Amino acid sequence: MPEDKSLLSAGTLEADDELQFLEELACHSQREVIPGGWKVIVVDDEEQVHEVTRLALKNFKFADKPLEIISAYSSEEAQQLLNQNPDTAVLLLDVVMETDEAGLELVKHIRDHLHNIFVRIILRTGQPGIAPEKSVIEGYDINDYKTKTELTQQKLFSTLITAIRSYRDLLTVEESRQQIAYLNQQLEDAKLSLENKVKERTQALQQQTLALAAKNKQLEEEIQAKLYAQQALEATNKKLDEANKQLSLIANHDALTGLANRRRFDEYLQQIWKQTQREQQPLSLLICDIDFFKQYNDTYGHLEGDICLRTVAQKIHQTIVRPLDLVARFGGEEFAIVLPNTDLEGGQVVAERLRMIIQKSQLPHRGSSVSEFVTVSIGAATVRSHPHTSVSSLISRADQALYQAKQSGRDQVVALSITE
Ligand code: GH3
Ligand code: MG
Ligand code: MG
Repeated sequence: MPEDKSLLSAGTLEADDELQFLEELACHSQREVIPGGWKVIVVDDEEQVHEVTRLALKNFKFADKPLEIISAYSSEEAQQLLNQNPDTAVLLLDVVMETDEAGLELVKHIRDHLHNIFVRIILRTGQPGIAPEKSVIEGYDINDYKTKTELTQQKLFSTLITAIRSYRDLLTVEESRQQIAYLNQQLEDAKLSLENKVKERTQALQQQTLALAAKNKQLEEEIQAKLYAQQALEATNKKLDEANKQLSLIANHDALTGLANRRRFDEYLQQIWKQTQREQQPLSLLICDIDFFKQYNDTYGHLEGDICLRTVAQKIHQTIVRPLDLVARFGGEEFAIVLPNTDLEGGQVVAERLRMIIQKSQLPHRGSSVSEFVTVSIGAATVRSHPHTSVSSLISRADQALYQAKQSGRDQVVALSITE
């Protein structure tokens, strides 16, 4: 078949060709169903057009795929077939069929109602006067316009190749678009899920933080409460210590003179007795008694007597300075002085110094028979480590010495050691 002749013009077919053509038609009159072929719907009310088209495109292949040619004889039938074959690549469409514009109305239907923008529509008209190319191309969304007379086999081939390529490219673009849309959706989903996870995690963290803060606050309050309790306890302990000290002071000291009392004296003498015994050291005891004190009270009154007692006590206390020495109020107007690690001679020296200090203090004492001032008599006794001696023997020896001092005229010291 000559390529430059129109396939669709009946007059162009030679007699032999026509015979062969009709034979071939027998084979192609049925719709070819080639799986995976490019679907082309030929829409034309002339049977011959269908036949010629099938014949002309018999060996057509594009991208290794043949054609699947579907025939429709009216615009209405074409609509149905398009519905059944949404993957139609090309529509070879006649214009004048049931009506003068049946083909053009089908174009509108495909684009506007079916919204099929992929199918390539090639308008083939035998009557360009009814559907002029310019107005049709402008007014309808078609992809190509051919008059039937210009479509030789070769032209039909190339027109179809161009259309299918364009359809394939559109599909590729659409596929890419869908893939991108799909990927975008995936990304959007992933982003959403991530955002949700972040939100959940943030909420969980906020709750944890709140719980921790509450726990912290509770702990701080507990610590604070414990601190307060501790402070209160410390304050109570301090008060208790002070009270104990006060108690101990009261228990161990004489209220009038502030010196150690008899109880403390006994306790200390016992303790120091053991220590000196153990260390085989001498221990001296002085008993100092104010002379004629009864007369002092009688002369100056009991209150003045108290003041005098305090003064004498203070003088004695100032005189006795060694750390282990103890001055105590022994009773009434008598004072006892414990002198550890002091022998009889040393005790005598201390006693004499004491006596002198009181005498030199010149505290007036009109009632005294030995001086115009207050004087004291002192009995001193000393013991050295000995298994048969005792605390009481030391006291009574000092007492004995004091007695002798009184007997010998007062205002004097008598010292006696303990004889075995
Ligand atoms: P002597 O020289 O022999 O020691 O005679 P004295 O008067 O000092 O001794 P006596 O034992 O006869 O009297 C002691 C007096 O000491 C009796 C008492 O009134 C007085 N006296 C005892 N304790 C206190 C006291 O706490 N305060 C006062 N003011 N006097 C006291
Ligand atoms: Mg006395
Ligand atoms: Mg006296």
